[in-house]
Amino acid sequence: MFTRRRTRQMKVGPVAIGGDAPVSIQSMTSTYTYEIDKTVEQIQALARAGCDIVRVAVPEPKDTEALKHILPQVPVPIVADVHFHFQRAMEAIEAGVHKIRLNPGNIQDRKQVDRVIRACRERSIPIRVGVNEGGIIERKDKGKRAEEKAKLEQNYEEELVGIMVEKLEDYLRIFDENDFGDVVISAKSIDARIVIKAYTAISERFDFPLHLGVTHAGPKESGCIRSVVALGTLLANGIGDTVRISYASDPVFEVEDAKEMLNCLGLKPRVEPELIACPTCGRIEVDLITLVQDVRRKLSTIKVPVKVAVMGCVVNGPGEAEGADVAVFAGKGKGIIYVQGEQTRTVNESEMMDALYEESLAFAQRVERGEATLRHGGVTIKPPDPLPRADGSLPLPVISR
Ligand code: SF4
Repeated sequence: MFTRRRTRQMKVGPVAIGGDAPVSIQSMTSTYTYEIDKTVEQIQALARAGCDIVRVAVPEPKDTEALKHILPQVPVPIVADVHFHFQRAMEAIEAGVHKIRLNPGNIQDRKQVDRVIRACRERSIPIRVGVNEGGIIERKDKGKRAEEKAKLEQNYEEELVGIMVEKLEDYLRIFDENDFGDVVISAKSIDARIVIKAYTAISERFDFPLHLGVTHAGPKESGCIRSVVALGTLLANGIGDTVRISYASDPVFEVEDAKEMLNCLGLKPRVEPELIACPTCGRIEVDLITLVQDVRRKLSTIKVPVKVAVMGCVVNGPGEAEGADVAVFAGKGKGIIYVQGEQTRTVNESEMMDALYEESLAFAQRVERGEATLRHGGVTIKPPDPLPRADGSLPLPVISR
């Protein structure tokens, strides 16, 4: 377990961010918020996947109007994402949102920003302020813009981080002048290295909770690597209080991957089965890749963190699956199933998926009834006798341990 950097704590509805609160998972809807049913459906799907807080865009009055109908139907706190129109923030606050995401730099009139801050203070609603690499360079003051650009040409990464910290300081001064401390901050970039440097710098400078994210991370396939490299590095260094992984894809994937990242780092207890699967090799004699995908889907209905292993052979599989509560070792046309180190069944390939699921479910139910315990990796698996190949020959001798 990592020592987490101590930050102030604030509440987003019932969810605490910062202090000793667990790292929370956020996501954002991809629907038009004014399409109430679609938005409610997506927020519910995100909540089922494990999302703690959901953000929605409110560019139009019809979006803030929809919030009044959405909020009573969803089980998680909602953040209104406001750009440019301070009036949307006021309407969202009036509708009862639990947090506002605001970029003071995008709102022309300081008095309007002050009004939003006052309204949030009256209702104890936190505000997230952030800087993004994309819009960080000064736009209004031409002299300052030229100066910042010249700095960036010298040493892009270092100067960019410096400008991010400086801009955040300017924003935070506005909140301070309004005697408002319920601020969550972010400093996003598309570049994982800049994200790591920027959050590290702001974590040394401020004690506000940090919302971690890589902006415009891309499609799930590459965005996952980009996000987990950046966010995982920060979290492993104790930095970060709430996370959003963002993909150009169904936002439910963002939540699934954020949850797995937090599980892997030990920052969130696992509540669903953990699947271990061999990568397959020249010893494989079943369609293990399809089997693993099917097992993964089926296991998600079990709400006990059983460790399940799907292994392609009886030669090295038992050693590699050591610690699994339930395991299958496949051979030509057959699979041998183990439950906490005891061989329970040998089934045909066509029955392997159902049998593994049945054994996993039955074991999970025994755990729930207190008749079995999860051994958290402490299961010893004695290798079974090797299954014969189709031609009757035996694979390599079982490694004795
Ligand atoms: S478990 Fe067997 S089939 Fe799978 S990678 Fe290891 S040796 Fe290969």
